[in-house]
Amino acid sequence: MENNNKHNCYQHLDSKCRCMVCGKTYHVIATDSNYSGLGRVNAACLRCGATEAFEDSTGATYYSDFDGKDYSDYYGYRMTKEEIAEGLRLAGHQCERYLDVISGKCLVCGKKLKEPLK
Ligand SMILES: [Zn+2]
Ligand SMILES: [Zn+2]
Ligand SMILES: [Zn+2]
Repeated sequence: MENNNKHNCYQHLDSKCRCMVCGKTYHVIATDSNYSGLGRVNAACLRCGATEAFEDSTGATYYSDFDGKDYSDYYGYRMTKEEIAEGLRLAGHQCERYLDVISGKCLVCGKKLKEPLK
């Protein structure tokens, strides 16, 4: 008998990183936080490009593509995943943290870490 718990989610991800079988999400989140706990932090999923921004000291959200809430009244700057990846490339990063299991590559620098998923 087919058991839904035994599937490999990564083989069923849609363009928004959601498993079409069980509904779990598998974003590869990167942020430009400097870990000071102050100021605006931009975050993006390096796979699907969903982004959000929040105030680090208060946790107040400017906008978010992740939680499905409507922050459409936010007209400020939205950083793209390319901009955040570029910042990580310059600042240095751990490839393993940004591994895309599907392609087997680091989503920041493109280095191949594993065999791609078949
Ligand atoms: Zn799944
Ligand atoms: Zn995503
Ligand atoms: Zn890398």
